[in-house]
Amino acid sequence: MNSFLKSPLINPVKCESQSPSRPMLPTKPANILLPKVFLLLATLTGLTLLLGSLAWAQFPPDEKVLPKVYVLPQPLDRGSPARVILKNLPPEAQVTGQFDGKPIFFFKLDDAQIGLFGADIMLKAGAYPLTVSWSDSVQTEKKVLDVIVKEKSYGVRDIKVPQNQVDLSPEDLARTKKESQETSKALATKTPERLWSGQFIEPVEGRINSSFGRQTRLNGVLNARPHAGADYLVPEGTPVKAPAAGRVILTGNHFFAGNSIYIDHGQGLISMYFHLSAIEVEYGALVKRGQIIGKVGRTGRVTGAHLHYGIYINGARIDPPVFRHMIANLMGQ
Ligand SMILES: [Zn+2]
Repeated sequence: MNSFLKSPLINPVKCESQSPSRPMLPTKPANILLPKVFLLLATLTGLTLLLGSLAWAQFPPDEKVLPKVYVLPQPLDRGSPARVILKNLPPEAQVTGQFDGKPIFFFKLDDAQIGLFGADIMLKAGAYPLTVSWSDSVQTEKKVLDVIVKEKSYGVRDIKVPQNQVDLSPEDLARTKKESQETSKALATKTPERLWSGQFIEPVEGRINSSFGRQTRLNGVLNARPHAGADYLVPEGTPVKAPAAGRVILTGNHFFAGNSIYIDHGQGLISMYFHLSAIEVEYGALVKRGQIIGKVGRTGRVTGAHLHYGIYINGARIDPPVFRHMIANLMGQ
């Protein structure tokens, strides 16, 4: 038998006041008191109902809906973009966020606040905290969500280039270090405003012959750095279009990337175009979606003419076609 059922706690307890030995106090006859008590109770109930209905009319029930925060997609592949969506916030709420030690910027879309972020191609599988805070003139609220990043296999590509482009001379090594500093500085650009709107278009029409995320076996030796963009196999001279509006934050001729353009689309979103035969925009220029910015070429360390197109969100290297689909879904176009 269950010991709980035998517990003394549920045994009846004798009550002292029930003792018949206690002396009885004299009382008024019940038939005189009862109507007065009943009348008093009825009056009080009536008053309570009246006041209650008046208060209801002046202060209708609180219709405030609780804020909602969620991440799409979940789980997330390494090398993929995602968005955090906040709904039911106070109208003038200021939103900030952070993922993987990097800031997330937010913009309003219909009745929601949207923040874009990415799981860098080198991010290991696991749970990563994403923090969002929103505040208005009255209060600040904070929420931490777990973003699950999962492993994705992107495969390996074999590339053969002249050996002096792998084992660099001291001069070439010094050049690549200087260029790496320049590109790091450009990639750290944080423009709080969103400069783009609508969907992202393709920079060129063509087949991707070397997709994002692949590891490169360079002259037979596996390189630790995965391919941080998508290569479009298109003929030399094909015009390259800006996929969305933004500002040119770097142009140059680099040892590995050849003639390159970097465009800042605002809120930590940066796109880049490598191996061009011509650069047709200047540093600092504002470009529109569809504007021709350069021409496809074979400059830098390449095996043939193609366009290398890369997208970074707050420093996270992500798959450009996956990003384009996400923005198309988000913007409903
Ligand atoms: Zn490439």
